[in-house]
Amino acid sequence: MSWNYDFILAEMFVLMAMFLYYVVRPRLPLLKKKLFLVMLVLEIAVLITDAVGAYTIENYINVYPLSYGSNILYFMCFFMRAFVFFMLSLHLIGLNCQKNKIGLYVIFITFVMFELITLSTPFTELIFYFENDRYYRGVLYILTYIQFFTYMGISLYLYVKQFEKIEKRERITLPIMWGVLLCGYIMRYIRNTYLIENIFYLLVLIILFFNYADPAMIIDSQTELYNEHGFAEMMKERVGKKDYYLVACVIKNKSLLREVYTVSDLQRGSKEIGAFLKRIAAKSFVFYSFDGYFIILSDTPIAVEEFQQKVTKRFEQAWNGTFNQMYLNVGYVRMDSSLDVVSTDELLHNLYAAVAKVEAANGPDSLNVEQIKRQIKVRNILNYALTNNDVQMYLQPIIDAKNGKVVGAEALARLYDDELGLIYPGEFVAYAEQNGSIAELGMQMFMKACQFIRAYRGNLNIEWINVNLSPIQCLDRNLVYKFNNILSQYQVPASMVHLEITEESYIDSNTLKDIIRNFKKIGFEIALDDFGSGYANIARLTKYPLDSIKLDRSIVVGYFEHPSDVFVSMVSALKASGYKIVAEGVEEEYMVHGLSKIGCDYIQGFYYSKPISEQEFVKKYTKEYA
Ligand code: C2E
Ligand code: CA
Ligand code: CA
Repeated sequence: MSWNYDFILAEMFVLMAMFLYYVVRPRLPLLKKKLFLVMLVLEIAVLITDAVGAYTIENYINVYPLSYGSNILYFMCFFMRAFVFFMLSLHLIGLNCQKNKIGLYVIFITFVMFELITLSTPFTELIFYFENDRYYRGVLYILTYIQFFTYMGISLYLYVKQFEKIEKRERITLPIMWGVLLCGYIMRYIRNTYLIENIFYLLVLIILFFNYADPAMIIDSQTELYNEHGFAEMMKERVGKKDYYLVACVIKNKSLLREVYTVSDLQRGSKEIGAFLKRIAAKSFVFYSFDGYFIILSDTPIAVEEFQQKVTKRFEQAWNGTFNQMYLNVGYVRMDSSLDVVSTDELLHNLYAAVAKVEAANGPDSLNVEQIKRQIKVRNILNYALTNNDVQMYLQPIIDAKNGKVVGAEALARLYDDELGLIYPGEFVAYAEQNGSIAELGMQMFMKACQFIRAYRGNLNIEWINVNLSPIQCLDRNLVYKFNNILSQYQVPASMVHLEITEESYIDSNTLKDIIRNFKKIGFEIALDDFGSGYANIARLTKYPLDSIKLDRSIVVGYFEHPSDVFVSMVSALKASGYKIVAEGVEEEYMVHGLSKIGCDYIQGFYYSKPISEQEFVKKYTKEYA
């Protein structure tokens, strides 16, 4: 036999280059990556033993230890290589090895048997043997093919069976990987002397390298920390499998920072913060998310208090930007494996939500595991309520300031859970706005208000119900049409529903104007909610065709704490422009008098009643019961 070593030589160079690049870059201890390293090493071993083995055969070097030794080693590495590829394949399919223990044992034991058979070759001549200085294949040489086809068969079977659960990009990688290897085994069969099938393994290694093994994929170039992708990969090996502890350090109020400092300041600052965190959390992994937070991940409990103290203390000093000294505020999110999450996606989702809360200018400075557990529960309850039409509508009466009679009510959303009891919008509205489910929530509330009006219309003392509209809902161009449909479905006149709208900076004022106009065309009355808290101001107001203005509790209370003519003149000015004025958050009798005196038309607040359930409202405010 005459062997051709050209391929092997070329492959060797490529492999060595890959190997060197791979070991000098920082890596995360991920199973996939460990397997990849093993594959690289095995490939090198196969190449060397293949070449040496072929050489001894070709040159009739019948020195037993050398000819047998190198060929035995070759076959052992050969079997092992296929085995490791198979393991990786199972891992990519996402099989949780702990659950398939028996199957895994069987596969492992057959693999060990292959290796033992190979080892026994000098005595049994099963894989190969030498006779008259010539090399012959043994009866079990065919195992080299059987092994491959079995592994491929099992992989493809599981691939099809688990298809839905496999990550999207692995869905392409896996068939390509086995397809390329199949070509390799076919070539090996028909062109045995070219030592060619290794090149197909090399090809697969290159595909894998570009697909996930490239260390650059998990490094954030700005901070030189691991990135979000690396974090997600680490969590995939932990969620539901083993313990983890993490603390996210969140730079607060980023949107404001971006206005104050330059991008390059913030980049340089992030790098410095990253280096600092790496120093004080030396035994943990530190990740940086592009969104401006850092995650410390550890497999053992973190001394959180001590850690947070150190970080907070450092944040009292300035960080060096490129042009500016930056003073930043930091908040914390803590999570660990006691969280009730089933998938990495769910974990990330909850982490992002918690980070967003802490990040907000008026958000909490830290969220601990218990608080996050509650948030997760609340979100599940919300999702359940949204899909099962189970959001509760509470009603708070609105009183006519002139005669103290109930004339309307505001519909306010509540969730109910057997374990947590009544849950207030403060815990779920912001989240629903974040993930877009506010549209569904708002629709349910609107529908329930219509249902309520329809059911009690005849003996209801009130003239209308106010329903809250989130600015996010207003982005839906079909909203007016949808509401109109519901009105006709329940045969409710639009005049019995008032819509409360808040003005937010992110809604284009022309869009808002159009929507309000369209609502008014149908006959809805429009109230501007939360006037005096934040964005809305008198100058902008006149743009919109509003019917009434709801003074936010903060300016109402503020007026009674520091009575001023400004408030009084503002109310008169608004009234003079034709708006009806509603005062919110009225808790004391003297406030009722004061507000009526300066001309408020309607009063809403705990002084009269807290928001109450539909049944209670019916009992209190319908003619039948009155
Ligand atoms: P809001 O629209 O300003 O609703 C008034 C809030 O003030 C209600 O809080 C109400 O319980 C509370 N309140 C009323 N009178 C008093 C008082 O005398 N003193 C005090 N301290 N508070 C009073 P709630 O029900 O917790 O709702 C909070 C916010 O959640 C609402 O503020 C509203 O922005 C939002 N929200 C509630 N339901 C919905 C909904 O169906 N859709 C949308 N988009 N947002 C909703
Ligand atoms: Ca409101
Ligand atoms: Ca309000």
